[in-house]
Amino acid sequence: MAPERLAPGSRIGILGGGQLGRMLALAAARLGMRTHVFEPAADPCAGPVVERVVRAAWSDRAALAEFASRVDVVTYEFENVDLAAVDALGGAVPVRPGRRALEVAQDRLAEKAFLAGLGLAVAPHAAVDGPEGLAAALAAIGAPAILKTRRFGYDGKGQLRLGPDADPAAAWAEIGGQPAVLEGLVTFEREISVVAARGIDGAVAAYDPGENLHRDGILHTTTVPARIGAGQAQDAVLLAGRILNALDFVGVMGVELFVTRAGLVVNEIAPRVHNSGHWTQDACLTDQFEQHVRAICGWPLGDGQRHSDAVMTNLIGDEVAAAPGMTGAAVHLYGKAEARPGRKMGHFTRIAPRS
Ligand code: AMP
Repeated sequence: MAPERLAPGSRIGILGGGQLGRMLALAAARLGMRTHVFEPAADPCAGPVVERVVRAAWSDRAALAEFASRVDVVTYEFENVDLAAVDALGGAVPVRPGRRALEVAQDRLAEKAFLAGLGLAVAPHAAVDGPEGLAAALAAIGAPAILKTRRFGYDGKGQLRLGPDADPAAAWAEIGGQPAVLEGLVTFEREISVVAARGIDGAVAAYDPGENLHRDGILHTTTVPARIGAGQAQDAVLLAGRILNALDFVGVMGVELFVTRAGLVVNEIAPRVHNSGHWTQDACLTDQFEQHVRAICGWPLGDGQRHSDAVMTNLIGDEVAAAPGMTGAAVHLYGKAEARPGRKMGHFTRIAPRS
């Protein structure tokens, strides 16, 4: 039986109202869809481009149920959505991608176990539940290593690099005394990511891998094509497909990888549209946002082939001041009022004929 396709004019509910929600809403509008956003914070940047914003706490079950009753499908734009909030949607409406992807991606330890279970390489790691456990993990894994909280880490937050003289008690206190994972430092040649989509019918489409440079733990640029061989690019894409299939995923996912001499090591997965996929807006016929909307609405996936080479650069904090004067690049601004340090304010993408 052909999957049911939501008709244009249907309503998409997005949990979270940040820039990813905003760009999803813009893509949805182009396909004739309407979007509602659920966001506890005031003035979400998706607000001006959506039909309705529900401002309520994640714990407000009545607000969640009412939100669900007014949309045809629910999706999310960040992976730390409270699972209890997803459950409070009441099963009245499909949630795509599903709960399982959130469960796996919210906990670094569960994520590593899941990936290793698929036979994929991950960084050497050990669970850490206290200062004694950290001392033991350091002895087992060796320094340098990175201590990461199991939950709620993003853009390098909740992470601490530890050298051979690290004091386990101080390090444990510094990350807030939360359940954590100690990871051995992976020696990589470069960092790449694959942004891939899976439709309701199980079809998978991946964008070409992009090469990522970080600054202060935040993505700075993504360059496509990544400087890797055709075989390795194919490995990366196939690996992403296996992850999507194993999760019975519907929507777009970002898979971050380290390229090492021994092959590809999975750093982490994000069950949502991804910053390293923003270049697709200007270098592909169907970008990652439209692809996600297509997938969750039961539409066939669009053509994600790259027609151009691209470099996407994030505009962080004050850097956004230069945007109005920029020419020769596609400028995307998120409409955030305050340019705080470290805050993603927009991005720009330069394209060139395909190499
Ligand atoms: P994450 O928040 O886990 O994506 O980490 C942010 C950045 O820290 C990554 O993009 C890498 O540049 C670096 N990093 C994280 N984990 C490791 C690791 N195990 N080995 C080497 N570099 C890492």
